[in-house]
Amino acid sequence: MTVAANIQLVRATIAAACLRVGRSPTEVTLVAVSKTHPAERVLEAIEAGVQHFGENRVEEAEGKIPEVNQRTSDTLTWHMIGHIQSRKARQVPPLFQVVHSVDRLKLAARLSQQMVETGGRLDVLLEMNISGEASKGGFQAAGWSGEAAVRAALWAEVEQTLALPGLHVRGLMTMAPIVDDMEQTRPVFTNLAALRAALADSFGVELPDLSMGMTDDYPVAVEEGATLVRVGRAIFGTREE
Ligand SMILES: *Cc1c(COP(=O)(O)O)cnc(C)c1O
Repeated sequence: MTVAANIQLVRATIAAACLRVGRSPTEVTLVAVSKTHPAERVLEAIEAGVQHFGENRVEEAEGKIPEVNQRTSDTLTWHMIGHIQSRKARQVPPLFQVVHSVDRLKLAARLSQQMVETGGRLDVLLEMNISGEASKGGFQAAGWSGEAAVRAALWAEVEQTLALPGLHVRGLMTMAPIVDDMEQTRPVFTNLAALRAALADSFGVELPDLSMGMTDDYPVAVEEGATLVRVGRAIFGTREE
């Protein structure tokens, strides 16, 4: 399968998921996750109409993003989806237009500070650890709806993040656990959607975006309200990592 054919299939799958739940496919942005793949593959995806790309490592993005931008006349949106070490935070805003992986207050504060110095606001999503897995990054959100202490701590962190002058918090992001049957991911996605609604209500802000769903689970994520799906392997094939 070519990259173009894969993209067509992913778009059809998104459209079918939207149809099942009465959503419009225009509400869902496909972010093609190009990590580990060279600029040539990204250019093939651009030819097939994709304008949003996700990368997870600053070092890789530093070479690839300028190269791709130079080789296309399209205006692309680059999404940072991977863990950001604090000492690498400065390198992120010049490369990326959206950061999905703001996973702690300290990182949010650093990115904000930098934007204040250079001017402008950075679009970000707050990564939530919904499943509670120790291996996952994100603000601690497991149990937020039932455990008062979890909720209080999370609300305090989000409140401070929302107050940062250099960030524009567009919504929430999560990664579902790896499971055998994608249906098992559904509770994580419904939980993130509920958390988004609760935070938006508490703080009186709009949090329009939900970044959720990857190759193995994006149809379920779309059914549960994803506005950004991050799809790698279904577009570019398996990675040699
Ligand atoms: C790699 C990655 C993806 C894409 O994963 P696939 O399974 O290849 O679709 C999505 N989100 C994040 C955070 C990733 O690191």
